[in-house]
Amino acid sequence: MKGKISRPRSRSKKPGWQQDIAGERIDILMKLAGKEFKGHPERSNRYVELARKIGMRYNVRIPKASRNFCKKCYKFIVPGKNSVVRSSARTRSMETKCLECGEVTRMPYAIEKRKQIKHEKKNMKQGASK
Ligand SMILES: [Zn+2]
Repeated sequence: MKGKISRPRSRSKKPGWQQDIAGERIDILMKLAGKEFKGHPERSNRYVELARKIGMRYNVRIPKASRNFCKKCYKFIVPGKNSVVRSSARTRSMETKCLECGEVTRMPYAIEKRKQIKHEKKNMKQGASK
């Protein structure tokens, strides 16, 4: 018996490779947003917008690790600049307050673990590419 695993791919409209590319583009855009923030914060907001659009179009989620924008006003936020980050022992989470609109986002500490997994996956990908 051959272990042929058929995954219900039909759920997502776009083929996997397109989603991969979309994911990479989102990654790049979020990095650019971080780079441009110092001199041109409005550009950062534009990059976030583009990344979100790509995500919506290809049904790709922006990785939480690079979600450096406010989920309410979608502005790119940087701790110490236009956002305040606090760790809350009570809720076991990081609290990010967007100073643009005042929204508070909580992220459970467990996210740090996911970040590591993402990093490992990235390394694996690099090794696998020819
Ligand atoms: Zn906001």
